[in-house]
Amino acid sequence: MDIISLILVFLAGAVLGSFLNILVIRIPKERGLGSAPHCTRCGQKLVFWQYIPILGWLIQGGRARCCQRPLHWMSLVVEVLTAVTVMLLYQKYGLTLTFAYFVFVVAILIVTAAIDWIHRLIYTFFVLVPALIVMLGASMIPEHSILNAFLGALIAGFAFVLLFILARILFPAKAAPFGLGDVYLSIFIGAAVGILDLMPALFYGILMAGVFSAALVIMKYSGRPNVPDYIAYGTFLCLGTIGYLLIGDLPLF
Ligand SMILES: [Zn+2]
Repeated sequence: MDIISLILVFLAGAVLGSFLNILVIRIPKERGLGSAPHCTRCGQKLVFWQYIPILGWLIQGGRARCCQRPLHWMSLVVEVLTAVTVMLLYQKYGLTLTFAYFVFVVAILIVTAAIDWIHRLIYTFFVLVPALIVMLGASMIPEHSILNAFLGALIAGFAFVLLFILARILFPAKAAPFGLGDVYLSIFIGAAVGILDLMPALFYGILMAGVFSAALVIMKYSGRPNVPDYIAYGTFLCLGTIGYLLIGDLPLF
């Protein structure tokens, strides 16, 4: 695999990342994709170079050119993460249907991770409709099958519903450590990776969430102010699955 094609795929991934950023901004506002991008701070229309993925953010030094207000660091993270992930998937699968399949999966996971981190919300339609798409699409790639996807979605959904109910019983007064959104997200992840890869795919995210929660508890008890009580559990599930897709080996079903 030559370096030129890797760079081209990286750039294409960065462009996809800036499109995902538009989704991250517009899905919570329930706005369509028709209108041109505006500054999220002051509403001014963006100039063309502000759109340039990764560079646009860096050239502006993390501050909006129009009103000097800080840009969200998440926009840069989404663009870099998408570009790197797409490039690594290309390195692993080449220009195949499997590559296209997992680029779609990763795009859904990155948007979901970013929105959950910022708003602590997972949009049902944005994970369940893609869950159906990846379940049907599973028949088109050799690493996967509809049965594998269906069983993955079923087991993941079942396990997370149990956890959800358990959390409700254990912490009735508090907001649950994770919500129904995480159940729907687990169904998407189960469909995307299939029953055979479900455990390792979820394992990384659960591990990261555990480490992060432990760090928060330590910070809280060491007297740090403004330590959040809850974490965006879905973000960790998404990142763990992306990590697994990049380093794990999907067995043939
Ligand atoms: Zn502005």
